[in-house]
Amino acid sequence: MRAGYYTGNYTYEVRQLPERQPVGREVKIEVAWCGLCGTDIHKFRGRAGARPVVPPIILGHECSGIVTEVGPDVKNFRPGDRVACDPSWGCGRCIWCQKGFPNFCTERHGVAKGFADYVFPPEENVYHISDSLDLETAAFAEPLSCAVHGVDLIEPRMGANIVLFGMGAVGGLMLQLLTKTAPRNLIVVELDEAKRELACSLGATQAVTGEELETAVSNINVDYVVECIGLNSTMEQAVKIAGKGAKVLLFGLGDPEKPMQFNQYEAYLRELSIYTSFLNPHTTERALALLESGQINTEALISARLELEEMGEELKTTHYAKKGKVMVRLSGKK
Ligand SMILES: [Zn+2]
Ligand SMILES: [Zn+2]
Repeated sequence: MRAGYYTGNYTYEVRQLPERQPVGREVKIEVAWCGLCGTDIHKFRGRAGARPVVPPIILGHECSGIVTEVGPDVKNFRPGDRVACDPSWGCGRCIWCQKGFPNFCTERHGVAKGFADYVFPPEENVYHISDSLDLETAAFAEPLSCAVHGVDLIEPRMGANIVLFGMGAVGGLMLQLLTKTAPRNLIVVELDEAKRELACSLGATQAVTGEELETAVSNINVDYVVECIGLNSTMEQAVKIAGKGAKVLLFGLGDPEKPMQFNQYEAYLRELSIYTSFLNPHTTERALALLESGQINTEALISARLELEEMGEELKTTHYAKKGKVMVRLSGKK
């Protein structure tokens, strides 16, 4: 089987690994598709994702596929089942798992490294999908589940004024979730004109550049701000334009070496709540339900479908990742 590795120092390699049988609760899944995540690009650049990076590591964590074999202790899956993975494993026994926060599990680690022909997650991280949901769309389960968790945290009230920064793949998913909270205004901030147009076609009431934003919000109280870029300039602008009593969700992944500037006094005058969102506790099943219902347009967010062998070039240039979601074709099954 092939696997796409980040091998350190900005290098990517497709290596051959021996195939093996699943053991214990492992489900062997022939990967159909795996999305390229912003955190994969962060890792390729030597920065931490949800965990510190020690190469060589197999990249990818947003995968779907078909079960080919199951370990002797697996109860709920059989060969031929169509499935999606939650790559984030929690032990279920530590104090954080017991408190209902598997994302903070003391033994948490990734169990579905999807830049590979096969993955072997334990069955608790595997989800059945219906025949009507194609496998490529199902590979959006993980990024969408992370976005659902972010929206869960800020609990938007209906009829609110919302500003969303960034129309990358995650911003595009977040936008579609936010439209379902019936906002009065849903203003997207995005530099790229094509993406601004896409934002309007997916339900934004307005799409503007960062420079146009202050005028766009001058007569409204911005109740919620969701930042899906992670640059200091946009995170700082997100806090700056937040209105009285606003909730600001900093969803984009910032640079750990270069923290943003934060003016506590200005935030105090408006009694801001600042949120961050870590992974996807208890949201995979709902993300899949949303995908199965057809309410999330994933096709509009896909910028390229690439082979595993093409990912070295893409990780270096981010040519297609800048335009939207890159999908890596493994078996390519629908
Ligand atoms: Zn991801
Ligand atoms: Zn745990």
